[in-house]
Amino acid sequence: MSHYVPVIGLEIHAQLLTKTKIFCSCEVDFGGEQNTRCCPVCIGLPGTLPVLNKQVVKYGVKAALALNCGVGQYTKIDRKNYFYPDLPKAYQISQFDLPICKAGKIKIETDAGEKYIRIHHAHIEEDAGKLIHDQIENTSLADYNRCGVPLLEIVSEPDMSSAEEARAYIEKVAGLLQYADVSLCRMEEGSLRADVNVSLKRPESIQLGTKVEIKNLNSLKAIVRAIDYEIERQGKILDAGDVVVQETRKFNDNRGITQSMRSKENADDYRYFKEPDIIPVVISDDEIEKIKNEMPILIDERVDTYLNEYELGKADVKILVADRAISDFYNEAVVYYPNHKAVANFVVVELLKYINEGELKGDEIPFTAEEFATLVKMTEEEVVNRNNAKAILKLMIDDKKAPQVIAKEQGFLMNSDTSAINEVVIGVVDEFKEEVEGYLAGKDKLFGFLMGQCTKRLAGRANPKTIKGILEEKLNKLRCSLK
Ligand code: ADP
Ligand code: ZN
Ligand code: MG
Repeated sequence: MSHYVPVIGLEIHAQLLTKTKIFCSCEVDFGGEQNTRCCPVCIGLPGTLPVLNKQVVKYGVKAALALNCGVGQYTKIDRKNYFYPDLPKAYQISQFDLPICKAGKIKIETDAGEKYIRIHHAHIEEDAGKLIHDQIENTSLADYNRCGVPLLEIVSEPDMSSAEEARAYIEKVAGLLQYADVSLCRMEEGSLRADVNVSLKRPESIQLGTKVEIKNLNSLKAIVRAIDYEIERQGKILDAGDVVVQETRKFNDNRGITQSMRSKENADDYRYFKEPDIIPVVISDDEIEKIKNEMPILIDERVDTYLNEYELGKADVKILVADRAISDFYNEAVVYYPNHKAVANFVVVELLKYINEGELKGDEIPFTAEEFATLVKMTEEEVVNRNNAKAILKLMIDDKKAPQVIAKEQGFLMNSDTSAINEVVIGVVDEFKEEVEGYLAGKDKLFGFLMGQCTKRLAGRANPKTIKGILEEKLNKLRCSLK
């Protein structure tokens, strides 16, 4: 298939972080009972009038700034007409020719290196409802809770040429929007969805081939699989001397294939026209400046701080910033204990284990960053050993107690009082006379054995360095007394 170059463009839908819908005051929460968060406006009853949510405009500007796009300072709202049962008004309020985010570009990184992907534009629009096809036989159910949920649709130029690049692009866009506080971008909850456009062309050809659009992909895995499948399918068609039909396809996750849905509509099929119920929005330079000043620290700046100021490893940095909530948590923890590397290591190795296994969510960590920092500090200062620190972390999750309290209750505190250690060392030296003699006769390896016996008896309650010191002292005394 190497005689074709894949050409890929993405349309990403990100749900904006408003509390209420784009044109009414219904709430936008995820989940919950069907058709309980609707009103006459969002289900499009005749005679109702939409009122544009100011926050949506603000998020649009923030998104433009985060995605390195120009801000559409004179931005217009349009009607996109189509009939489908998930859209009770039979038109979607969207934007056509004057979107809120103008062209821009973002940098992605793949194993092959860095690359810029251009963004054509991004516009705000309302989401449609959700159809449920598989609950009752021969019946489709409609849930209109999602109608009117505000979305930002980010349309890329066809600048990607592999599934890997598409994945990197989506991850980058999601990171930028999450860090800008514009969208949660959680694919598993539907707050980020992507339509993928794929075509093939000959390397020497300037003209792009006929594209196929794969709609509504909701996981990175599905996106990668759908693209790879489509590249292969189109390659076979072209190899056979046939032409690719321009159409919309869907991805069948079970079978790992794309299937035709409908032939593709063109813009004129949508009969776009200016939404007569909403006046255009003008965004002044001052307003943009104000939003700029309120912008949180974005992902690239965090990466820079972690790498250059905190001197963390590249791999750890990538993991830390992958989830905004984790990066926030880390930033807070290092305020309490500024040992950047130790805290990063504990987050990446210990905390993320629970998150990756699905036991915890990054934004629902049941202890404070201060408590976490305290635990790392206790470990670094050898107040508890690493193994017990892991056990303490588990108990912080399960019992929601402070690390100092758990350490004390569980007897995990390293004994600073050496009398207990002394006692154990004397006991071991007494019990393992042969090994002690062997050691004194020059078998150095036996020190490790004796040390192990002491550590075992103290069961992580004493600092190994202290044990080692006391054991060495005891053995040296014996050596002297032998002379
Ligand atoms: P349409 O008019 O079908 O909506 P657009 O030109 O608006 O097409 O592009 C929609 C998306 O498809 C964009 O993300 C764009 O990058 C991508 N795209 C356009 N042409 C191609 C092509 N030949 N191959 C792959 N992707 C394409
Ligand atoms: Zn409503
Ligand atoms: Mg288009």
